[in-house]
Amino acid sequence: MSRLAVVCGGSRGIGRAVSVLLASRGCKVAVVSRNRDAAQATVASLDGADHTAFSCDVSQEQDVQRTFETIHKNQGNISYLVNAAGINRLNVCLLHRDSLLLRTKAEDMVALLHTNLLGTMLTCKAALRSLLHSPGAAIVNIGSVVGHKGNAGQCVYSASKAGLEGFTRSLAKEVASRDVRVNLLAPGFIRTDMTAGLKEEQLRTIPLGRFGEPEEVAKAVLFLLESPYITGQVLVVDGGLQLAM
Ligand code: NAP
Repeated sequence: MSRLAVVCGGSRGIGRAVSVLLASRGCKVAVVSRNRDAAQATVASLDGADHTAFSCDVSQEQDVQRTFETIHKNQGNISYLVNAAGINRLNVCLLHRDSLLLRTKAEDMVALLHTNLLGTMLTCKAALRSLLHSPGAAIVNIGSVVGHKGNAGQCVYSASKAGLEGFTRSLAKEVASRDVRVNLLAPGFIRTDMTAGLKEEQLRTIPLGRFGEPEEVAKAVLFLLESPYITGQVLVVDGGLQLAM
């Protein structure tokens, strides 16, 4: 029987590439993002049948609960949860969400933390009962090399991603006895809408000399989802960027 995967932030970028890869491997995919049409467009491009699109803001608890209840009721137990919904200051939908700390408004800090950190906590909580009933279930949260190394102008974004590391390790400990695994994947610069404003000179900071592609991150996500003896780990996918930071 095919596994059910929920991909939050599956309408674009890394989440979209994860949805495409999981569908090509026979998963039923529930694509979640705020923009339903964009989620539906991803669904329309997937191999196979029975994929679904959901409009849901991961930072809103009731929205998240309602969405996961519907997925569970209509499609059964969730095997995989991938948390790729996120924003930063380069996000085309929410410009200038972070910058130097002195210039960052508290309301913008809250908006970013609510999406990147609280959002992942809420989706994990909402999916957990379903995951506990699915043998070999796994969660992959998407962090960032910035969460590990820090970056001037990204205090709040970095804090949200560092928070995800602690959350991932702690949840991994909470659910390991029930054979649910939780890992975090930390990308470097990946070519998506989020990095559309980056200049080519940034390439010089990357040892491999190029941005990563969403499909390259998706392969690593699949590896973590399918590796039955890996939990509580951070996998860096950054072309060597962290070596140079
Ligand atoms: P992206 O192309 O901007 O896509 C972001 C996705 O998240 C979209 O599907 C978006 O859909 C969804 N989203 C944003 N806010 C949401 C919310 N409140 N509720 C539900 N969905 C929401 O970004 P990306 O580059 O693929 O990034 C994916 C993840 O990787 C993020 O967590 C990001 O921080 C992380 N990351 C990216 C890079 C990079 O270089 N690209 C590097 C390190 C880490 P809607 O707008 O329709 O909601």
